[in-house]
Amino acid sequence: MKTSLPVLMYHSIRKPGRREIMKGMHVKPSSLGWQMRLLSKLGFKGTSLREALQLKQMDPSAKVVALTFDDGYFNFFSDALPILVSHKFSATVYVPTARIGQTNLWDENKGIHMQSLMTKEHLQKCICENIEIGCHSMTHSDLTHTSSDLSIEIYKAKSELELSLGTETSSFCYPFGLYNQEVMNILKRAGFTNAVTMRRGLFSGEDDIFQIPRVPITWHTMPHAYLLKLLTSYEDKRRRQ
Ligand SMILES: [Zn+2]
Repeated sequence: MKTSLPVLMYHSIRKPGRREIMKGMHVKPSSLGWQMRLLSKLGFKGTSLREALQLKQMDPSAKVVALTFDDGYFNFFSDALPILVSHKFSATVYVPTARIGQTNLWDENKGIHMQSLMTKEHLQKCICENIEIGCHSMTHSDLTHTSSDLSIEIYKAKSELELSLGTETSSFCYPFGLYNQEVMNILKRAGFTNAVTMRRGLFSGEDDIFQIPRVPITWHTMPHAYLLKLLTSYEDKRRRQ
């Protein structure tokens, strides 16, 4: 049976300022609230990517949606986690290992708002709530750029994250959605078992597990668009090769 898994992509959960740039990376807490209620009402279970892949393997028709949050913003802990817990949902959060407890330094000097990232203690509390912590490289750099040291950005990022949290990390998220064959090969050698991109589409059994497409949710995603993205071929028609 052909399987189809929506992997929703969120970043920061807060109301953006009116003139803020990169507004699309924010979703208001109240919007996340109705989105999770809608999933619940439709009979979907919102889970981490790890759990969603397991559930789909056991039953390709399972009504499951993978929830992913990039960068590990503190507002995941303060605003998203209580909503997820209230629905008995989980999620995957991708953190750049060297930036734990710092800010989104990779966005510095681009006019993008600086935001606090979760500390190790926040991440440990997330793990207690069944949240999967995935790796988002060491410093959130472009891994396809020749100046990036892939042994640090992939191998060291994985081992330090695992050491710090005392848990295995097998899921990866490409910073800025950028990757190439060399990056994928190193991820496999380092022991990762899957990786998410910023390519649009629903994940099907035919997709490469190291090139998982996702469904972007932004501050202006309205309920009708949310349903189209989840339940129809809307996102697949927007796939970029
Ligand atoms: Zn990121």
